[in-house]
Amino acid sequence: MAETTYQARRERLLELLAERRTAAAAFSHLPNIRYLTGFSGSNALVLLSEREAVLYTDPRYELQAAGETDCKVRVVRGALWPELVKSVRRRRANSLGLEAEHLAQAEYARIGEQLGPEVRRSDVSGLAEGLRAVKDAGEIELIRRSMDVCGRAYLQTLRKIRVGISEAEIAAELEYRMRRLGAERPAFETIVAAGARSALPHAQPTGSRVQANQLVLVDMGASREGYASDMTRVIHTGRPTAPTKRLYAAVLEAQLAAVDAVRPGATCASIDGVARRTLTRLGYGEFFVHSTGHGLGLEIHEAPRIGRRVKDVLERNMVITIEPGAYIPRQGGVRIEDTVVVTARGAEVLTAVPKELLVL
Ligand code: ZN
Ligand code: ZN
Repeated sequence: MAETTYQARRERLLELLAERRTAAAAFSHLPNIRYLTGFSGSNALVLLSEREAVLYTDPRYELQAAGETDCKVRVVRGALWPELVKSVRRRRANSLGLEAEHLAQAEYARIGEQLGPEVRRSDVSGLAEGLRAVKDAGEIELIRRSMDVCGRAYLQTLRKIRVGISEAEIAAELEYRMRRLGAERPAFETIVAAGARSALPHAQPTGSRVQANQLVLVDMGASREGYASDMTRVIHTGRPTAPTKRLYAAVLEAQLAAVDAVRPGATCASIDGVARRTLTRLGYGEFFVHSTGHGLGLEIHEAPRIGRRVKDVLERNMVITIEPGAYIPRQGGVRIEDTVVVTARGAEVLTAVPKELLVL
């Protein structure tokens, strides 16, 4: 990414800080640091002010930081916060924004003590996340590439899915394929759940083996060049029964209707409502036990959340998932999930894997 991309992001953030009359802010949430500076290491702070942007990290990351970021790098032996605080005090800044939501209470209090009474603390939680919700063209391209890896890994793995293979073996194969295709890692722990376990929305794969006439739910995502993708597909081994077909058709109808409703200006609650009303009309409302989707990008779950009471409004270039599901206890569950981009007039579905119930 061009140097100016990070500068532009920092400038937008400085405008938001100025509106809050905060002259400087310290960012500690690593995905925000990556967004603002390009630095992808696991130990850093960023001090951002009108005058400069300084990245604090430890000696392990000296070379990496120099290569990844366009801002000033301060290599610190030992704890980073005391160095950052020293610099704030040295400049006689009278206010400092902190990401309180990402700091433990004790840590927040300790930083306050170190800053002293002259420096007013303000909470800037969610400010960077708000910017991150709307993606730039480069980010959308990275998510597209991440989704591509995820979809291809799934299609390659289908050949191996048959009666007798375990959930854990399928998950291992999916993750191996994602890495072979260019992912750094899975974006989250791959979910593979067969039979009655598919009714557990967040089942971890076990050693249990796929049997004939079962639903197999696969929820997977890649992290590629830092950006996440997310999709869920469901397979059936052997001919599905009429109730299973009905369940699948209902979730698919809800998913398609919700994707169709995505456009700039729609509220997150309205998209969730479309999925929920469809499932309710078809008799599965009580079995839809989670929200319809979530934003994704540098993190697998980020703003906005596509939930029942979320008033946030969709904007062009937000990237979200649409993933309604219905889970019948002790029988099985179906969820269908795509990653989509909000476009000028509607939505572009990035997930290129077919959505019909796949019968193996
Ligand atoms: Zn998912
Ligand atoms: Zn998801």
